[in-house]
Amino acid sequence: MSNYFDRTGRPIELLEWARLWEDADYRILHKTDVTPTLRIVTVWEGFWPYAVLEEGKRIFHTAAIHRLNRDTVTEVEILDWWDTEDEAHAGHARHVFERGAAFCKRCSMPLDPAWTACYGCGAEIDEAWHP
Ligand SMILES: [Zn+2]
Repeated sequence: MSNYFDRTGRPIELLEWARLWEDADYRILHKTDVTPTLRIVTVWEGFWPYAVLEEGKRIFHTAAIHRLNRDTVTEVEILDWWDTEDEAHAGHARHVFERGAAFCKRCSMPLDPAWTACYGCGAEIDEAWHP
């Protein structure tokens, strides 16, 4: 039994996992700067060491990265693990929502303050809403 899975949950070989791991665009589903000192990230890890023992495969996680300033991370807090990409997207939005970030009014994607347009639908950022 494989301990490695791609984003669809398909078992893959170690070398294929390593190749995907090198691709940051593949690995990072979301990174949302909620405040200048709090970033919520959701990533694919694709590795679940308990696959031989347990049902499910927690191959995504959402984490809170706390920082003192732009360059200094003070704490990384794992908030949740996810079995599927759909759960990971929804879970990311929920964690960001709970912390009061802005969302796209048109497609509900959490907005990164650095964006000039919504990554999800291309809407102008002035169409954002706050919960
Ligand atoms: Zn949008």
